[in-house]
Amino acid sequence: MRNAGITPNTTNATNTADEAAALLAVARDVTLVAHVQPDADALGSALALGLALHRRGATVRVSFGAPEQTPESLRGLDVAGLIVPPEQVPTQPDLLVALDTASRGRLGCLADRVDTAGAVLVVDHHATNERFGTHHLVDVDADATAVLVLKLLDTLGVPLDEPIARCLYAGLVTDTSCFRRADPSTHAIAARLLATGVDPELLTRELLDTHPFGWLPMLATVLGRARLELASAQGLGLVHTTVRLADAADLRREEIESVVDLVRTTSEAEVAAVLKEVEPDRWSVSLRAKQRIDVSAAAAEFGGGGHRRAAGFTAHGTADGVLDRLRTALHHAPHCQPSPRHGDISGSRGL
Ligand code: 5GP
Ligand code: MN
Repeated sequence: MRNAGITPNTTNATNTADEAAALLAVARDVTLVAHVQPDADALGSALALGLALHRRGATVRVSFGAPEQTPESLRGLDVAGLIVPPEQVPTQPDLLVALDTASRGRLGCLADRVDTAGAVLVVDHHATNERFGTHHLVDVDADATAVLVLKLLDTLGVPLDEPIARCLYAGLVTDTSCFRRADPSTHAIAARLLATGVDPELLTRELLDTHPFGWLPMLATVLGRARLELASAQGLGLVHTTVRLADAADLRREEIESVVDLVRTTSEAEVAAVLKEVEPDRWSVSLRAKQRIDVSAAAAEFGGGGHRRAAGFTAHGTADGVLDRLRTALHHAPHCQPSPRHGDISGSRGL
């Protein structure tokens, strides 16, 4: 039995913020879920909306399918202790809200709650969003899911305070590469968030600029292994490296995820790929493009997804085998279309 309220929308259409907010306004019990290996946009969006609904008196929990522990750099966002392990998510949640999650599978072990929940609201900005809920607030032009959450909070009339604003700012700053790819309206939102007292320097240091000393020798090994292939990616250049389990045995995921941001700066390569060993012969791959190649199309060939300039997938086999298949996928990946908003060749933004 689906929730009463607004008309479920199981087509590709997107509900308005008014419709989505109407669903939230009457909810007494809300489960907010982020994608597996949540980043600051996914978890920050879930916590910001969770904090607001909690304050309005709803019973609220926030969860994600993996890993078991909240990433250390994001722990400070959960000021009200809303995060619970997946086992504590009801088997039949009343209202499930999936944030920054393009497909059901990205919820990992919580994906089955999509089938059992009373209603499922999907709030996301991925172009590849599969509209797997009963209600959808999906805007591929939003720089981050956090932008859409702020729209919901404004519609609900929730006053912004520092803890909520900090969660939203965390999503914005990380998904826009520290506002390099933020549009003017996103800068205006950032100004609103900062006005509540968010400390951008402290928060950004926690999120992006803090690593244990062991990060440095890991980088030395992994960056020393990088290879540049000028002829790959349709002659636009591919740079790639691998992070083996042994390279990062005692390091957090944050250290491993940071590698692609260094590799992608290679001037001779349009595309950067980092193959991260999850277990022997299983790789989580991060792809980044500068502006011309649509890497989400290449990721989709492996069953992954993401945005045109930042995408990922999981693959089995040897590193060389995965790289071979990746070269082929990049060889026929489409080019990004010029952005109507900026007139330049830019892909979808954010993560
Ligand atoms: P990252 O490389 O930072 O892990 O991910 C870049 C983008 O690709 C993000 O938008 C992320 O959600 C998406 N992404 C990463 N891995 C996968 C995957 O295995 N499947 C899908 N569908 N998307 C992914
Ligand atoms: Mn995002």
